[in-house]
Amino acid sequence: MRAAYDDQNIFARILRGEIPSDRVAENDHAIAFRDIRPQAQVHLLVIPKGAYVSYDDFAANASDAEIVGFNRLVAQVARDQGLSLAEGGKGFRAITNSGEHGVQEVPHFHLHLMGGHDMGRMVSPR
Ligand code: 5GP
Repeated sequence: MRAAYDDQNIFARILRGEIPSDRVAENDHAIAFRDIRPQAQVHLLVIPKGAYVSYDDFAANASDAEIVGFNRLVAQVARDQGLSLAEGGKGFRAITNSGEHGVQEVPHFHLHLMGGHDMGRMVSPR
């Protein structure tokens, strides 16, 4: 059984063009835009165009073309933003939060791509 998708979530509305976003890249299957409350010098969100609630929903149910398209856009954005090691950048952190314990705010799968400086420890010890 899949988690229900709320088509009124803020990223669904961004995809439909109902609210603005600072879009930096797009392909057939995904878009990338700036997080409205950046927590790093570079803080982008990459989201699939399809209706997927979380990373595991996307990984289990998206088509091969969607999965490839999404990941290729992540790579393109990392390169374009000067974060990619392949281009001499210093790297980045990619985070995806899922559900209550992952503290996911927006129920449309998204990957945070963050960088521009040392990102510190991954999580605070409990
Ligand atoms: P989550 O906690 O779900 O992993 O992250 C959701 C992210 O979406 C947060 O970093 C938040 O700042 C961002 N966000 C929430 N609403 C908007 C919006 O309307 N536009 C943009 N660009 N980002 C948003």
